[in-house]
Amino acid sequence: MIEFPAEPYRIKSIERIRQIPRSERERLIREAKFNIFKIRAEDIYLDFLTDSGTSAMSDNQWAGLLTGDESYAGCRNYYRFEETIRSITGFKHIIPAHQGRAAEHLMFSTLIKPGDKIPSNSHFDTTRANIEYAGAEAVDLVIEEGKDPSASHPFKGNIDTDRLEDFIKKNGPGQIPFGMLTITNNSGGGQPVSLENIKKTSEILHSHRIPLILDACRYAENCYFIKQREKGQSDRSVRDIAGVVFSYADGCTMSAKKDGLANIGGFIGTNDDNLHEKLTNAMILVEGFRTYGGLAGRDLEAVARGLEEALDEAYLSHRINQVKSFGELLLEAGIPIVVPTGGHAVFVDAASLLPDFRREHYPGWALSVALYREGGIRACEIGGIVFGKKGEDGREVFPPLELVRLAIPRRVYTESHFRYAASIFKRITENKSMVRGLKITYEPEYLRHFTVEFKEL
Ligand SMILES: *Cc1c(COP(=O)(O)O)cnc(C)c1O
Repeated sequence: MIEFPAEPYRIKSIERIRQIPRSERERLIREAKFNIFKIRAEDIYLDFLTDSGTSAMSDNQWAGLLTGDESYAGCRNYYRFEETIRSITGFKHIIPAHQGRAAEHLMFSTLIKPGDKIPSNSHFDTTRANIEYAGAEAVDLVIEEGKDPSASHPFKGNIDTDRLEDFIKKNGPGQIPFGMLTITNNSGGGQPVSLENIKKTSEILHSHRIPLILDACRYAENCYFIKQREKGQSDRSVRDIAGVVFSYADGCTMSAKKDGLANIGGFIGTNDDNLHEKLTNAMILVEGFRTYGGLAGRDLEAVARGLEEALDEAYLSHRINQVKSFGELLLEAGIPIVVPTGGHAVFVDAASLLPDFRREHYPGWALSVALYREGGIRACEIGGIVFGKKGEDGREVFPPLELVRLAIPRRVYTESHFRYAASIFKRITENKSMVRGLKITYEPEYLRHFTVEFKEL
């Protein structure tokens, strides 16, 4: 019997969810043209679409909302927000943004010129899209183990530092305005990056005068893994480890919808006075004044309090072990997953689960359709649709992995929800004809998964 960790919190307020009949779900998924993003959340029983902005806030955060100071400039919650983030990251300037991609867009449109190349372990989809939108190329240099769903390695999110060095030699630092690391590596399976790897990356980049920018959405989960898995780190607090991690970087972008335990929010951190000035001037056009950045004063307060709570090690231990236990349940049901499980999600290896399914028929997406139809579960494909691209000859070029991500909202679901989800997976593996191939009937230019439409084959 798989043991789930006991929650370091209790339930004070509940939100009703309901399971609509299968026939209803069948009708709705057809109407949505097999795009799970178009289903109303009310018509979903368990929503594993994302861990972003879906956290349950604490009583302390809800209480903080009432202290919101909604003054246009200089609200007190901004100063608390700034102080909290500065104390965690050590960055000199903290710039609020309404979410991660707004921070990325601001940062990238200021730093990137067309033709540039931005190396990272793996770029997240909005990060990649914002880099490409600025005319640059987003280059993934994750270690080989990070591409193999069954390879065991404690830090599968690490960047390949030899390849990074070659990449800089080949392209010249003039083409590389900054390098990035995504911690944890979302697209690569929520896998952590080691402290040693962050340090080495920083040294390589800095030896060529290239700054390191962290995509820090899940830095707290990453630092917890460092404490658990990296030699010599177990006696340090997660907060201290975070301080060291950020000290190797020159700046960061972060979505507070992840390890900020908030429903909206984000920020940029930087030590560069010049960049700070450019960003705060540019943001007035799109995000607002620099002491609110597209957020209400109360949201800034919720983020500040959430960032503190996300560093609580009892919380982090429960969080990481809940994800791990869910992964073990799926393995027990015969579902191949990316191992070891990462921080925020269990990634099902759809290519191994459905070996006879052609990539052109989008097995990962098809599995996510089956999960909704059979169990009212919403999951997100991270494979051919999210990362596939049209090649020169008009044929699709598929990414190496075909995954389905079951992202786990923070502090939201209990053990019985996970057992239910595993039972639906079991039913699907026992009758794989429930997963049906798809053909695209419509797709937009960027981030196609949000609006793509299909017909079933
Ligand atoms: C969520 C996420 C982003 C974008 O943040 P949003 O708040 O969704 O705009 C960027 N990078 C990573 C790694 C993420 O997980």
